Amino acid sequence: MISTIINLRLGSYTVSALRDLQEHFPRVRDAFPDVSNEELTQLTRQYPATVTPDGFLDSPTFAFLIRGSGQTMLVDTGMGPRPSPFSGQTGTLLSMLSDAGVDPPDITTVFLTHAHPDHLGWILDLKMQPTFANARHVINRRELGSAPPPARLILDLLQKQNLLESFEDTWTLGETLQTVFTPGHTPGHTSLLLHSDGAQLLFLGDALVHPVQLQHPEWVMGLDHDSQQAIHTRQEVMAWASAGHGWLAATHFQRPFVRAEASLGRADSGNSAG
Ligand SMILES: [Zn+2]
Repeated sequence: MISTIINLRLGSYTVSALRDLQEHFPRVRDAFPDVSNEELTQLTRQYPATVTPDGFLDSPTFAFLIRGSGQTMLVDTGMGPRPSPFSGQTGTLLSMLSDAGVDPPDITTVFLTHAHPDHLGWILDLKMQPTFANARHVINRRELGSAPPPARLILDLLQKQNLLESFEDTWTLGETLQTVFTPGHTPGHTSLLLHSDGAQLLFLGDALVHPVQLQHPEWVMGLDHDSQQAIHTRQEVMAWASAGHGWLAATHFQRPFVRAEASLGRADSGNSAG
């Protein structure tokens, strides 16, 4: 398990990728149900570190810490303290935050890209109390209606404690953070754009789950709620990124920070930053 914090300096902000987990996800065959065996073989050849010898995706789950302009905020919260249904492992986000010099009460805002368990995990501790008790937790309102029951329970508890802020169309924080609606993986899936001093970073959430989707936005993940919408969203993200607008931050890429225009068309790597 690699526990190194990966930092990216973006204008006057520091963004840290904190690896909550590294685990074996579904078989690559099940992850991309519509892709041919030949293409999957190509994927394994191109991204060998992401596929185990017995054909499972080997995937990290990152949360992102943003520090700057008086903010100490998280984008998503990893799988959390309860055992992952895939591997039985528990997440390490809190110790990584501690290594970064941050205590949970320091977190001012938690932005949630969507209501899947590997993104909501640390919101409640093992006593079902808010881990980030001083933070407002921000999520697209569409996710409240479509969240699976365990996620619904978490969000309801936050709501009762006045720690949940849901938004209808867009949400902004100051002049530097704004939402970008990226539906498909879930109905209300929303990415977050950080811009500072001419530099930009788009927190993808699960709009792209594997770096092969940088070259193949049309490759549908079995977990995507609406596959056509997910393809459309990935194409829009890639149009933005390949025009040189900035960095992408991806929850489940081995190297979480990507400058997409540099990696498009490259056969050796889908990631150019670390
Ligand atoms: Zn995820």
